Amino acid sequence: MGILDGKRAVIVGASGGIGMACAEAFLAEGARVAGTYRRKSAALEELARRQERLALLPLDVGSVSQVTDCMKEAVRLLSGIDILVNAAGIHRPALLHAADPEEWGEAVAVNLMGAFHVTQSVILPMMRAGGGSIVEISSVYGERGGIGQSSYSAAKAGVLGLTRSAAVELASKKIRVNAIAPGFIDTAMTEGLSEKFRQQALAHIPMKRFGSPGEIAELAVFLAGPKSSYITGQVFVIDGGLSAV
Ligand code: NAD
Repeated sequence: MGILDGKRAVIVGASGGIGMACAEAFLAEGARVAGTYRRKSAALEELARRQERLALLPLDVGSVSQVTDCMKEAVRLLSGIDILVNAAGIHRPALLHAADPEEWGEAVAVNLMGAFHVTQSVILPMMRAGGGSIVEISSVYGERGGIGQSSYSAAKAGVLGLTRSAAVELASKKIRVNAIAPGFIDTAMTEGLSEKFRQQALAHIPMKRFGSPGEIAELAVFLAGPKSSYITGQVFVIDGGLSAV
């Protein structure tokens, strides 16, 4: 028996480090999962081969029509939806004076507008299901600034505003909405960091390591499941103590 037995979950960005860990954790807890990918990864394909409760769907969250069609298909495949995890995101660091407006806009389009599109698209099907839980993946940069982080910080801060307002608006429909704000997590997103930057980041993290995608997935399971039934509109920082300093 898993705590998500019988639950139907859509995980957006399931080909990424955090999204894939969420897919694995949700499957292990008994959920049926529709995972979206921008570029299929061999690991995700292998997971889908082993797990008949996992379906894969292509999706670019920057396209409203793709979001609409993909979510309809996901809901059809799962015969409804109880959980959404939005783990799609990109990072386009640039010093503000030199930032390319197009790249800045791309970060907002994927991280914030994408979150809006996918969140909006699941509201009616979740209402039809009698309620649900939405978990947005924001970032500690949604609550703090950083050199070169203006587009990412602005977009991830926007996700926190979206989360809180959606939670207030949807509480009467029994839909809970919460955000996870990870610090530095070992995924493709942090893989390209220079050794110098990594060492500087580690110096500021009290636990002296980056987090693992699985540690984020455990929190997502908690927020998606019945043990968090009275929690909505909240932001959960998971950063090894970084923001406590
Ligand atoms: P990742 O690069 O491994 O995964 C990013 C995912 O987003 C991939 O599945 C990718 O396909 C998807 N994606 C990118 N552009 C997309 C688009 N236009 N449409 C649909 N999907 C798209 O990185 P990750 O660390 O797993 O990131 C997952 C989430 O966690 C992101 O929102 C990221 O901003 C956030 N986050 C990551 C860290 C970290 O240190 N890794 C820290 C804080 C927050």
